[in-house]
Amino acid sequence: MLIFGSTKEGMEPLGYVGVTTCRNCGNSAHHIVYQRVKSASLYLIPVAAWGRGSYVICKICDAGIEISMAQKDFLVRECEHIPEPQRYMDIWNNLIAGWQEAVNGFAALGQKNYNFADAQRAAREYVAGRFSPEEVEFVESWTFIPTQLQLAGALNQVDIKKPTLLMVLN
Ligand SMILES: [Zn+2]
Repeated sequence: MLIFGSTKEGMEPLGYVGVTTCRNCGNSAHHIVYQRVKSASLYLIPVAAWGRGSYVICKICDAGIEISMAQKDFLVRECEHIPEPQRYMDIWNNLIAGWQEAVNGFAALGQKNYNFADAQRAAREYVAGRFSPEEVEFVESWTFIPTQLQLAGALNQVDIKKPTLLMVLN
């Protein structure tokens, strides 16, 4: 369920969970896990309509997705060693640059379906030597590759090796 509103009242941030494309605003945005802590009405919207519990919220448009307590615990645990937000965005932007260049190259060749392995290789070339392999691997597997697959409508066609943020959000 998608909620809209503000994170400014009655919501406590529990942790940063990375960059992905927001399903509401379409931006590559930081996402944060929040938990509702107060029982006030927010902007005249009865709190009951928001439900109780935890949400993953886009930092740009404030749209949030309600998640279960188990999912919240999972995200907080998985993101214990996540790169800090600016660094995550830097890695993301470099991966995007390489990925886009490869995808544009496929399009120029008249290929409708592009090769994910080649795009991934091109993305890695852009970040090589600038960030640690562990950081790059985390960003890649946690949100970057799943997000690109989802944008291409291929998320369900490719075997992704481990739980990712998108598995919680979808
Ligand atoms: Zn958004």
